This record gives sequence, C-alpha cells and structure tokens, in this order.
Amino acid sequence: MKRRLVFATNNKNKLREIRELMPEYIEVLSLADIGCVADIPETAETLEGNALIKAHYVYDRYGLDCFADDTGLEVDALGGQPGVHTARYAGEEHDPQANMQKLLREMKENSNRHARFRTVIALIEKGREQLFAGEVDGEITTDPRGEKGFGYDPVFVPEQEGQTFAEMGEERKNKISHRARAVVALLSYFQKN
Ligand code: IMP
Repeated sequence: MKRRLVFATNNKNKLREIRELMPEYIEVLSLADIGCVADIPETAETLEGNALIKAHYVYDRYGLDCFADDTGLEVDALGGQPGVHTARYAGEEHDPQANMQKLLREMKENSNRHARFRTVIALIEKGREQLFAGEVDGEITTDPRGEKGFGYDPVFVPEQEGQTFAEMGEERKNKISHRARAVVALLSYFQKN
C-alpha cells in the first residue's frame, strides 16, 4: 500500500538521508512541502518525548500522517551526556562546530571514548502513536575527521569501522547508522500493518 508521510524536520541533511532510506511505496513530504515554516520547540527531557512533540505538531495542526526523529549522542565517560541535549550542547545556536569542539574539550585525554548514537522515530498515523528506535555504538575521535555528513559525524567512528561517519559518506553511513536502524524498525512495522 502506498503511504504518504510528512517528515517533521527542518534539517535538510536528515531529510535527504531519510528519503534515501525509504522504499518507493513511501512518499516523504517535507515541512516545506506542506507550507509549515515553524521551528518546532523540543522541550521534552527524552528523545521519545521530543520525537512525539515534533510529530504531534504536524499531525495536530495539519491532520497529516507524520513521523519525526530525535537523535542523541550518549557518551559513557560523560555519564550519557549530551543525550537529549545533543543539538544545543554548546548553546542555543545549535552550532555543529561549537558542539563538536565542546565535546572534544570535555573528553580531553579521557581513554574511555565509547559512545552511542540513538535515534527515536515517532510515527502518528490516523491518530495512533508508535515509537521505533535504532542505535549504533562507536568511539569519539580525538580530532574531527572528514567533510561529509553533518552534526557530530566528523568525531564519531562506528564500531568495526575505521572511518568516521564524515569520512565514509552517506552510502555506507546509511547502511549502519542509528537512523538507518530506526528506519528498518519503522519499515518492518509498515510491512505488517
Ligand atoms: P535532532 O535529532 O535534530 O534534535 O539532533 C540532535 C543533534 O544530533 C544535532 O546536533 C544533530 O546535528 C546531531 N545529529 C543527529 N543525527 C546525526 C547524525 O546522523 N550524525 C551526526 N550528528 C547527528
């Protein structure tokens, strides 16, 4: 069955990754496609809460089936931080360079560099809420490496990979990433429902 879903994000990189990951039977509309220019506030204290806020924002105002994702980088040596605060780690400007620099400063010479990216997708279809999750374990580098990707990609090397997400590029990232795994869970739900 063909499905049409709004993806509630203003992040063009995420939109591109999600469109690459979705099969043909799912049409993904952006916020721009539906004329929504809002910067949806993310005020919850969990990834699940924020993903639901974003999906509800669209569903409640536009009545369109919708999904949203929220991602956090959980660093063991920092007690799971920045977690839900990943986007605004270095301040409300959501500046990726400043965020990465702050992370590298906080980690200093710490030898425990284990971290995980975790994505939660909230889907609202005909008023019904569903949550899906995906995660990938890896290590925080000591310096940024690579030009591709976005956000913290230059400082994260996924487990069993020699390159950061920013070095490997989208094709490989989309096979192993937190978001790809959450999308696999979403698609498996679609296949059954
Ligand atoms: P949000 O899910 O849009 O709230 O993103 C949270 C933070 O995680 C932002 O700083 C993003 O740049 C970052 N982020 C989300 N997904 C990725 C990713 O796939 N790679 C690197 N950083 C990411």
